[in-house]
Amino acid sequence: MINPQHIESYTFFGLQKGPSVLVLGGIHGDENCGSKAIKKINEFLINNNITILSGNLTMIPVSNPLAASLNTRNGERNLNRNFYPKSNPQDFEDHLNNVLCPILSNHEVILDLHSFKVGKHPFALIKSVDKDHSIELNFTGEIKTVYEKTLAGWLGVSTVVGNWTETYERGVSRRVKEKSNDGNFNKISNLDPKYGVGTTEFSREKGAIAVTLECGQHRDPMSEKFAFNAILGVLTGLGMIKSKTSKSKNDDVRYVSLFEVYDKQNISDFLLDQWKNFDFLKKDAEIASRKNGVRILAPEDCYILFPNKNATPGNEWFYLARKFTK
Ligand SMILES: [Zn+2]
Repeated sequence: MINPQHIESYTFFGLQKGPSVLVLGGIHGDENCGSKAIKKINEFLINNNITILSGNLTMIPVSNPLAASLNTRNGERNLNRNFYPKSNPQDFEDHLNNVLCPILSNHEVILDLHSFKVGKHPFALIKSVDKDHSIELNFTGEIKTVYEKTLAGWLGVSTVVGNWTETYERGVSRRVKEKSNDGNFNKISNLDPKYGVGTTEFSREKGAIAVTLECGQHRDPMSEKFAFNAILGVLTGLGMIKSKTSKSKNDDVRYVSLFEVYDKQNISDFLLDQWKNFDFLKKDAEIASRKNGVRILAPEDCYILFPNKNATPGNEWFYLARKFTK
């Protein structure tokens, strides 16, 4: 039984100096693979199957208990947006922000576990695939630089996506510039760049490295397994636990960089296919149609990401990403 009136967390301190790691589950209430994986890791720790040798680990299995108790994505709003402390909290998630933000600020490495509705393969989101974000960490007295790409490499994913925040912010500033004379449209358009701040954006502002991990489909039992192994992978990579199996690092990672976001402008705009994450589009492929019949074409060979046919006018509809090669 989930109690929306408090938040549960598990914390373990190693006896040697090391990184401080925070693992979040259930930021979205209908994505419970992270919650289950965290509870299993907690059992492993309590039963001495694994030991935190250095640094410290905090895990929050159900970060939005209201949404989880309703088994919906959001409680009163999306917890992974507008994520910063509020002096005058207005809704349930504002109150959660005031509890969670100080915890996030206290950690150097953040792993935020999610799942998706449609799609196949797990993937990770980092800040940038071309300008990799990093942090200096203390490994039992030795200072080393750790990059988000390295962190993502410990998760077992074969795809890493970057550059969401800058693409999102470009979309918002275009919306502000194109602000139409239609007052009604302006009211429903999202014109606040701060709205794009979620758990990872907030953590990076506080100096941490942070990865969002999409572990697989919501109800697929493999998603929970994937999340469980990803947590072990991070703790092993950071030298905080001794791994029993020496899992080989995945060297065959595809990096993709988001470069464009399209907004739905009218309720009658529509997608021309049942697009899924990472569907490949050849240059000039027809993606969507505006109400007036104007087609949106792929500007280059690219992938479609986060297509949302139910987007409301003035909000993100789909993103395009290109393969990143060094
Ligand atoms: Zn999610």
